[in-house]
Amino acid sequence: MKITKQTPREKVIAVAAECRKCGHCCSFGGCFVLEDETERLAQKLNISRNEFKEKYLDENRLFNKIVHKTKVVKKEEELPFGNCVFLSANDKTCSLHEVKPLHCRIGTCNEHGNDTIEWFFLNHVVDPDDPVSVREWAVRLKTKATIPGGNPEDLVEDAEKLKKILDYSITGFEKEYDDLKDLDEWKNEFDEAVNTALENAMDECMNDKRHNKKNGRKNKKN
Ligand code: SF4
Ligand code: SF4
Repeated sequence: MKITKQTPREKVIAVAAECRKCGHCCSFGGCFVLEDETERLAQKLNISRNEFKEKYLDENRLFNKIVHKTKVVKKEEELPFGNCVFLSANDKTCSLHEVKPLHCRIGTCNEHGNDTIEWFFLNHVVDPDDPVSVREWAVRLKTKATIPGGNPEDLVEDAEKLKKILDYSITGFEKEYDDLKDLDEWKNEFDEAVNTALENAMDECMNDKRHNKKNGRKNKKN
């Protein structure tokens, strides 16, 4: 069976189901945890979602999306990898096994391993509506082939739009520029209002001074 971006989730899980649970892959780093999985995992540990995130997850940016990854416990500090925090060091079992994240359920060391991870990225991380995400994915594909349905021209079917995304004519930051423009306009309005208020205050102050001077003269005459 060839996995494509469109392969249903249950079929991808089935392809990876023959895992022997040796724990080998869990000794080389943590797994991705989707936002909507955090509640279920926190419940399993009888803690709040926030506590779960703080205690067990690290935040990463991947294809312009913030994604969480389980923390790792390093055997030696200088190593770039280590055991997933949920892997038991004694018997190599996963303490979240019954509820483990989708990323672990579709991870496999059989011949589909590469494709299932591509499927995960394409369906849960890469955002075809975000030009930055598409661009970062396209850069990655320069050194790594993906599964059918996962090439930039599959993600953005409008060829002209894709060309503009890839040559930065569409940056993906247009909204931020607009927000900045709004902020600039707001700042100008604010400066104008402050200046008017200052001028009014100065006028009032000058009027008061003139009035007091006049009254002072009157009082002297009297
Ligand atoms: S996917 Fe493979 S390496 Fe990972 S735990 Fe299962 S059998 Fe072991
Ligand atoms: S959550 Fe469990 S299955 Fe997933 S990487 Fe950690 S130990 Fe392995």
